Amino acid sequence: RPPAWEAGRQLFSGHDDLMKFADIGLSDELLRAIDESGYNEATPIQAGVIPSVLMMRDIIGIAQTGTGKTASFVLPMIDILAHGRARALMPRSLILAPTRELAAQVAENFEKYGKYHKLSMALLIGGVQMGDQVKALEKGVDVLIATPGRLMDLFERGKILLTGCNLLVIDEADRMLDMGFIPDIENICTKLPATRQTLLFSATMPAPIKRLADKFLSNPKTIEVARPASRNENIEQFLVKTSERSKRDTLRSLIEAEDIHTAIIFCNRKTTVRELAKSLQRYGYKAGEIQGDMDQSSRTAELDRFKAGTINILVASDVAARGLDVKGVSHVFNFDAPWHPDDYVHRIGRTGRAGAQGRAFTLVTSSDDEAIDNIQKLTGYKIPIHGGGAPAADVAKPDRDAEEGEPQRGRSARGGRGKAAAKPEKAPARPAPAAPAAEAQPAKPREDRKPRNDRKPAPARQNDLDGPDDGWNGPMPGFLSVGFDN
Ligand code: ADP
Ligand code: MG
Repeated sequence: RPPAWEAGRQLFSGHDDLMKFADIGLSDELLRAIDESGYNEATPIQAGVIPSVLMMRDIIGIAQTGTGKTASFVLPMIDILAHGRARALMPRSLILAPTRELAAQVAENFEKYGKYHKLSMALLIGGVQMGDQVKALEKGVDVLIATPGRLMDLFERGKILLTGCNLLVIDEADRMLDMGFIPDIENICTKLPATRQTLLFSATMPAPIKRLADKFLSNPKTIEVARPASRNENIEQFLVKTSERSKRDTLRSLIEAEDIHTAIIFCNRKTTVRELAKSLQRYGYKAGEIQGDMDQSSRTAELDRFKAGTINILVASDVAARGLDVKGVSHVFNFDAPWHPDDYVHRIGRTGRAGAQGRAFTLVTSSDDEAIDNIQKLTGYKIPIHGGGAPAADVAKPDRDAEEGEPQRGRSARGGRGKAAAKPEKAPARPAPAAPAAEAQPAKPREDRKPRNDRKPAPARQNDLDGPDDGWNGPMPGFLSVGFDN
């Protein structure tokens, strides 16, 4: 399975009961082809879209990249087109895709799932010889997959009639918009029968796409798989480059530079949570902790202190924090880059809630490249580096836990009441007694230092490290597949 789908699966599993394809009304031949392709369950967008397409509804399907939107229209189309015959020059259905590659992927899907059906197909994309495609069209095709430019080209030359085309799919509509295809699409829409069925898919719904849908879809059903928090525009995300040894120092610089009202700091391990909370307390921060070794009553007590403002920084592990509903957290810091990309989405979802602006920082070392890559693949968002580059000073210096009193001012210190609350009154003169040995060692060029083995991601989920699930795992809002009529 491709990584994007794996990530998507992780994102959705546990939030939505994945449906079996057999339960959503597809034919036996199709189920056999699906089974042979190795799919086990329908993704949420597929479970939402497929039954409505089979009921001949117009559809607006909104879900992030990698959630399986292609099969959500290809599968029901195969069953719909199974009955009836194609006529010369008159494709029975049309799928518009923004690029050659995406059009070719859709064609592959038809080949894979349509192998027990006798559907004919033509692919009209730029950069390939048109001869064979035109021949296929002349014979008549059930499915025409095209990029808008090439289609208009052939249409204007009289090689296609769109009057028999009763099913239109506009795939990747937001990318169509980016590529300037909206006028072409509008033009194409006017050439199809007004009574056709129209399906529109997009990862986002910018205004021009909404207008297009209003104009060319009739009484559509909107099926939206709520975008995860990572795409929430209320959250500004940053990567902060550092080294294993400078992490605490980098974190404190950030806390100083940011206008912290309330913050949750996530670590991958319980021991890191404990040590970091202690370290921050020694620096005078009003920090508390919540991790899997604590019993429920101490967790509740700590959470109450956080809600009451007695502490304004909560250091947490993933499992302990799951289901935690604290509103108005101004900042999330990932002291460790999460090993699982869905944890990233959960973590940063703690901020930017209810319309409030939030900021999420992820500390990254050279060993986090793969984790960050997976996160970016899942969310489809390239997280910018804070300050446009590595904070060189922080990376090069040894941890100031060991040598400096007052934590340094950040680059863009901004005033604010929250900041006063987070500012340390006093810092210790001595290094943290509980600090790992490596942090107390004298500075060395960081190239000399190998990543420590115990920092390597464990193959298992961190639940193993963080104690069993104990009732703190409430349902996460925002991940459910919702359908509504409009
Ligand atoms: P989108 O168009 O939403 O970006 P795609 O349709 O391209 O997503 O699907 C992303 C990947 O997920 C593809 O490789 C596809 O084969 C895979 N996929 C889609 N649906 C399923 C499923 N139900 N089970 C397993 N893999 C799936
Ligand atoms: Mg797609």
